[in-house]
Amino acid sequence: MAPTRIQCILIDDGLGSAWTLHHYKWHDQFTTSPTKRIVRVEIVAEGILRDIADEQLQAGHVDPKTILSTFTARLTSELTACVMDTEVAGFKSIACYRTGLDIVVQLDTPGLERSLVPIILRYETTKTLRIADKIMNDFIVNTTLRIAGEGGKPVQFHTGLGDNDITLSLSTPALMQPIIKAYPSTKIVLLHSSYPYTQQAGYLTAVYPNVYLDFGEIFPFLSVDGQRDVIKQVLELCPTNKIMWSTDGHYWPESYYLGALQAREVLYEVLENSIRRQDLTLAQAIEIVKRAFFENANKVYNLCLQPHIV
Ligand SMILES: [Zn+2]
Repeated sequence: MAPTRIQCILIDDGLGSAWTLHHYKWHDQFTTSPTKRIVRVEIVAEGILRDIADEQLQAGHVDPKTILSTFTARLTSELTACVMDTEVAGFKSIACYRTGLDIVVQLDTPGLERSLVPIILRYETTKTLRIADKIMNDFIVNTTLRIAGEGGKPVQFHTGLGDNDITLSLSTPALMQPIIKAYPSTKIVLLHSSYPYTQQAGYLTAVYPNVYLDFGEIFPFLSVDGQRDVIKQVLELCPTNKIMWSTDGHYWPESYYLGALQAREVLYEVLENSIRRQDLTLAQAIEIVKRAFFENANKVYNLCLQPHIV
């Protein structure tokens, strides 16, 4: 970790299960500033719904009306607690992996109640509770955006680049326009460079004050040429005070190392070229680097960090 010179890790601790993960605080030994949590909201919601389903199944009657009202109350209180918690830097939604980014803003209560029945029945037979029902996933996202916005915490969205579990055509952030507009005071961070939809993400970042673009995960997943192209696309239209680097490092420490090293090399190459062509001055390029690697994230996630220069 030393050569990465990462000062502070923001870690999504809802990835995998408790026995495959170190506690988020364990990572403090590698950085000069303490690690903060990113709360994966679908995992929180599933935990709450599992508890309610257990209670109802034990009592011997399943009432969708009661389940929905209890679920809404508990989800609201859990997310509100996260907003108040200084250990939480923000939220992450994996709606993209479940039912796609064409998230609906207006949801009808009878539809939500109806969607609960198959979720509970599946849980009763399989003993696993996974929310992959569009209306319910959209409800969780809307609830998160509302509460996060009230508390000033950003909400990250998985967009684009993933595995064959996502429907590629539903992973473009262009589909998010209705929710971006519906929650103008909620900071929305588009993750993973939205690859291969980087230009669409750039457009949204340019035209909506509440949208930010995180250019992670392409390191080391794309070829070096591909990484260069994505960085160029990010810089085509995105305001440079709204772009943020990340490693998307997980499971293997090398993913932090490569994510840091390759991002620096590629951004250096792209900006150096711009300076040579006199598109940018050296001073402007330095400002872009400072913003992308430190200042923007420091501001968006309310980290209040002073840069630790080694
Ligand atoms: Zn993701």
